[in-house]
Order: sequence, then C-alpha cells, then structure tokens
Amino acid sequence: MAQPNDSAPGGRLYIVSTPIGNLEDITLRALRILKEADLVCAEDTRVTGRLLAHYQIKNTLLSYHSYNEAARIPQILNYLKEGRQIALVSDAGTPGISDPAHKLVKAAIAAGAPVEPLPGPTASIAALVASGLPTDRFVFEGFLPRKKGRQTRLKFLSEEPGTIILYESAPRIQKTIEDIVKNFGNRYIVISRELTKKFEEFIRGDAGEVLQTLKTRSLKGEIVLLIAGTEYRHLTPLQRES
Ligand code: SAM
Repeated sequence: MAQPNDSAPGGRLYIVSTPIGNLEDITLRALRILKEADLVCAEDTRVTGRLLAHYQIKNTLLSYHSYNEAARIPQILNYLKEGRQIALVSDAGTPGISDPAHKLVKAAIAAGAPVEPLPGPTASIAALVASGLPTDRFVFEGFLPRKKGRQTRLKFLSEEPGTIILYESAPRIQKTIEDIVKNFGNRYIVISRELTKKFEEFIRGDAGEVLQTLKTRSLKGEIVLLIAGTEYRHLTPLQRES
C-alpha cells in the first residue's frame, strides 16, 4: 500500500475535513493530524474547540475566517517556513467548499509549502449520492448570489446537462424554488436536509410539487438543493429507475 507522505520533514499545510453533523464522521487520520499538528487554524475556534474536546484532543487553535484571512495568511506562511505542521479546518465539512481555505492554499503553494488534503465529509457529495439523481456528471454551485447576477446565473444553470448542487438556508429555500420554477420550469429537484443528523430528510419531486409542500410546512436546519440537469429529461422512466 502507498505510504502517506505526511511523515516528510518541513512545514506542511493539512486541509482537514470534519463532520457535517454526526461526530462519528471523522477519519482516524484527521484525528491524528488534529492532535499532532503544531497549530489548528479554525473558522470558529469555539466550534472546533468542541470537536477537539469531544475527542479529548488538546491543541492550540488560531482563528482563520473570511474576515481575517488577509492578515492571517502571512502569519501562517511564516509558521510553515519555520517548519510547523498546520491543520486547517472549517466549522463543518471540507475547508474550501463554500468555506475559507482557497486563498491560504494558493499562498502556501506559491511559497513552496506542501499542501495535503485529508478527505472526508462534505454536504455536497453526501447529498448528491443519496439524491437518486445522476452522479456521473454534476456541478457544484455553492450559494446562489442573493441579488445581483442571480437571475443570470439561474438562466445559465437551466441549460446545465449534469446534476446541479446548491447550498441554501432554510429561510430562503422557498424563494429559491420559486426562482427555479421560473427559470427551469417544473424540473425534478431534491431537498437534502440536516444530513447525518437526527432529522435528516430528503424531499424529492417536481419543483412545483415541492413548492406546494413548502407552503404547508416550513423547513428548518441546513439544506443542500439538487436540481436535475437537462440530460435527466431525456431518460425514460425505466432508465431513471435502473
Ligand atoms: N464546507 C462545508 C461542506 O463541505 O459541505 C459547507 C459549508 S457552507 C458555509 C454551509 C452550508 O453547507 C449550509 O448552509 C448547507 O447548505 C450546507 N450544509 C452543511 N452541513 C449540512 C448538513 N448537515 N445537511 C445539509 N446541508 C448542509
């Protein structure tokens, strides 16, 4: 079996995925790196502090979030230059996926520091694989723009052949599905809610039908919204089920 290269000397940046709800969803390697790293950079140090405490891990936490990343990057690059092992986590899931990480990763690469991913949970892929929609071709769109560029983006996405993955908040889901009906027509969609948590739920159906459901009940919690791509339309009912 190939050996992980995380025993090489010198500073190294680890991009560590953490649970999106169920605390059991963390790899043995993630736990080891969170323990052994010289420093854990975390979006909200209280959130990561609770995760570390759950696994009885004691380590130094440094806040790294979208508001302070410009100031933090030179500091973290210095630590890497000094040979320190840095673990980067976000509040949940994979850093860099609708969470800060990208700027630091780019800066570390430019500075010649090795960057190593520790794969694990991300709500996008968990939602996709359980949605029942095609997984062979998909696009991840993160959060839609709230105002400027929103309708243009939706129009563009309405031509997308693969499954579309969006992040959305519960208070905005109804409005977003109304926009989908407007731009995509009555396309098949899946709402994936509270993945890996106690009230995990999938609501599947044509957008118009799901919209009616939402008029009778309001959703809470975290949501991934999946929209069937244009290729899905051409599948026969038998192909959709097989
Ligand atoms: N980095 C995270 C990841 O890898 O999935 C995403 C962080 S983003 C700031 C937060 C959004 O991810 C939420 O608003 C929701 O759309 C989605 N999300 C995160 N956890 C989720 C869960 N347990 N169930 C459903 N959606 C979730």
